[in-house]
Amino acid sequence: MSRDASFFNFSIKNILSDNQSVLDQARIRLLYYGFGIVFVAVLGLLVSVYLQHLPMLTITAEISLILVVSLFKYLTYKPRWLRISHALLMLATFINLLDVFVIMQRVDIITIQIILLVVLFGYYMVGQSWGLFYSLLNIIPVMVFYVLEYNDGYFIALRPEKIDQSTIIISMFANFILIIYIHSHFYSAFFNNIKQLKETSDQQKLLNNKLELAIEKAEKSSHIKSEFLSTMSHEIRTPLNAVIGMCNLMIMANPRADQKENLRVLKFSANNLLAIVNDVLDFNKIESGKVIFESIKFSLVELMQNICGGQMLKAEEKGLEFNLKIDPVLANKVLYGDPTRLAQILFNLVSNAIKFTKQGNIYVKAFCHEDKNNKVVITFTVKDTGIGIAKDNLESIFEPFTQESITTTRQYGGTGLGLAIVKRLLELQGLQMQVISKVGEGSEFSFNMEFEVSNTTDEVGEKHPLLQNTEGLSNLKMLIAEDNPVNVLLMKKLLAKWKITPIIAENGERVIQVLQYRDFDIILMDLQMPVMNGFDAAIEIRKMPDIKKAAIPIIALTAAALTDIKEQILNAGMNDYVSKPFKPEELMEKIQHLVFEIH
Ligand code: ADP
Repeated sequence: MSRDASFFNFSIKNILSDNQSVLDQARIRLLYYGFGIVFVAVLGLLVSVYLQHLPMLTITAEISLILVVSLFKYLTYKPRWLRISHALLMLATFINLLDVFVIMQRVDIITIQIILLVVLFGYYMVGQSWGLFYSLLNIIPVMVFYVLEYNDGYFIALRPEKIDQSTIIISMFANFILIIYIHSHFYSAFFNNIKQLKETSDQQKLLNNKLELAIEKAEKSSHIKSEFLSTMSHEIRTPLNAVIGMCNLMIMANPRADQKENLRVLKFSANNLLAIVNDVLDFNKIESGKVIFESIKFSLVELMQNICGGQMLKAEEKGLEFNLKIDPVLANKVLYGDPTRLAQILFNLVSNAIKFTKQGNIYVKAFCHEDKNNKVVITFTVKDTGIGIAKDNLESIFEPFTQESITTTRQYGGTGLGLAIVKRLLELQGLQMQVISKVGEGSEFSFNMEFEVSNTTDEVGEKHPLLQNTEGLSNLKMLIAEDNPVNVLLMKKLLAKWKITPIIAENGERVIQVLQYRDFDIILMDLQMPVMNGFDAAIEIRKMPDIKKAAIPIIALTAAALTDIKEQILNAGMNDYVSKPFKPEELMEKIQHLVFEIH
């Protein structure tokens, strides 16, 4: 009803709108199609009386037709259905009373029909009070007329051969009252129902709005949290990189025995701090659903040996016996899966087992539980004879930042994130961890994981052996993009060992400038730099007109957590990455591979 349609537009679409209630739309439709039917009926009547040469009736039919068309036009021009309904009801009342008191001077079937229509139309079009008003306006005068007209004394014949007038009058009274009562009753029930429905849907809308706002807020705050952690991680990892790197350099420089011991403690603590930062970061990443599992070929035996290799030494240092058992069925199998994440899970379990065991044994087992249709289900078990876990704490130890007790924190340190990460990593793959433990006797953590088996027998995880001869390296033309002066110093010292003298550019823009007039064999690119970051610089380099320069190998130096940044690095056109603090051999291996083996 909000819009006014143009004068020559008769379409119902112009008078219906979404902000009308369902009931109002039904009322408009009723009027619209009702006028159509009445128009056809009055037109038929007009033709009929005209052909019968009845002038009075012809004029009446013509006036009626004009009236119907005018009201219809008014409805489609300005859809004021309420006014039109009142006009129609008044017209019907007028015709009814005129008919009864003036024209016919009697009550007949037409009178009853008009009254029924007024009652129905009145209630549904103009509501309960007006409906009652029009109903009584029609019924009372008609009944008064009827009663006055018949004055032969009233009695109700119980078994009349023919229904007499007084019976008809009284039963008509009763009928009309009943009709009004029924309509009044059901109209109010019907109307309340609609009102209730509308209220519920309004409430729902309100709730939905609130929910959307809350979700938006939660998403925003979780995004801010992730951003914060990722920035913090970079800030913490960058100086840590320098600390660990300097330690490495000093250890390599043949220090005195006492200095060497101090340096080892320093390196151990820095590595510990790094592990904690990594755990917090990793947990943040897992919680925000950013983990994507890889499916790449790997050898389980090799992976288990790698994980346990370092751990065995730790166990031995504590006087523990370390047992690694791999099902012989798995010995020559090459599997598809995510070795990085599997290693992370096993590493956490094994280091906990060693950490919480004072004497006895550590068992690490991979048992082939099922082997069919090119798929294997492997049961991994890590068992110890350590302090054990109380039954009540078997669930809570998997909660983030939760340790068994305050004493655990004091005696063993740790953040309480390891098992939370393990649990989430398994859950994301639809898997569950089983724990059996007894205080004072030991614990057993186990889980099943399914892998596809590769049919091919090609080498897995092809390694590029470190060149024994590093002599040729002194001619290597290297550009390093790095803004942090401590890191620059560290890199220079490290590279000096291989007699490499790098050129330094303090941001991405400088890299592009230097590249214009000099040739390089390789670029080591820090990612977070002022002015132009490493990603943008790499993209610019790949677009350079000089084909040789555009194809120069680029290794990213990243301080952020690995898995999600890997794709961004490759997308920006860089060849590989090392994450800070990197192992010198790892960096060298990658440089050699990119410069000497590929190019
Ligand atoms: P953190 O090792 O940093 O304390 P975790 O999440 O790895 O955190 O472990 C949570 C807690 O579960 C530990 O603090 C310890 O109380 C308990 N726990 C884990 N593994 C073992 C184990 N093998 N033996 C006894 N207690 C364990």
